[in-house]
Amino acid sequence: MGKKRGVKGQAELSVILVAVAVLSGAGACSDSNGGGGLSAPVDSDPVSVIALDVRVHLLESDEFTQLSTTLTGPEVGTLFEGVNEIWAEAGVRWVIESIVHEPAANQDLFGQVIRGEIPFTGSVLASLLPRQQLLSGKWDVFMIRDLGGSIAGFYIGGIPAVIGAELDPLGARDLAGSMPRIVAHELGHSIGLGHVDCVAAGNLMAPGCFQGVRTRLTAIQTEIARSQARTGRPF
Ligand SMILES: [Zn+2]
Repeated sequence: MGKKRGVKGQAELSVILVAVAVLSGAGACSDSNGGGGLSAPVDSDPVSVIALDVRVHLLESDEFTQLSTTLTGPEVGTLFEGVNEIWAEAGVRWVIESIVHEPAANQDLFGQVIRGEIPFTGSVLASLLPRQQLLSGKWDVFMIRDLGGSIAGFYIGGIPAVIGAELDPLGARDLAGSMPRIVAHELGHSIGLGHVDCVAAGNLMAPGCFQGVRTRLTAIQTEIARSQARTGRPF
């Protein structure tokens, strides 16, 4: 965690955004089913795999390293292998439609955040996302380098867009652990899941919960998520 955690005012983010504070730790879950392709695409079949297209936007900035992800294309592939391991249990598979590199929008606003002139609100965060290459009606995941502090991901339903930070709240770049778990959590919001309490068994949607299997989904969550996924559109 050598770099300065420059983003302030996170308390305000929770007003508008669904935020997650997930710390690094256990590795990816071991999944069971998946493999896909064999069963008929009957919606009511809980084992059938629902594939959802996602465009991954890698944000860039010459001025602010926090905004500029260092993720490479192959690393995005690795990231989504981890995400799909987690979601295999629910029979949901995220398929990378494309990966685009884009400069962050409204970087001057981010400069004001860094200088402490304005708080880092949800609207500021949303304004950083370029909208020219959205996969309209499908899933857009924006990866940036560092959201700072204790937050590593958001889902902004109004766009809709998932935002993931390359660095987790501990400042670790954990491509096999916290990064896919955080993106999988935010994608969970995008298919209708809210937060749940921290329980001994663990749960993907329990932010900041260190118990049990942190990538687990209950049968009810699976049903809700699949129901939204079947519509082919984000929640
Ligand atoms: Zn969350």
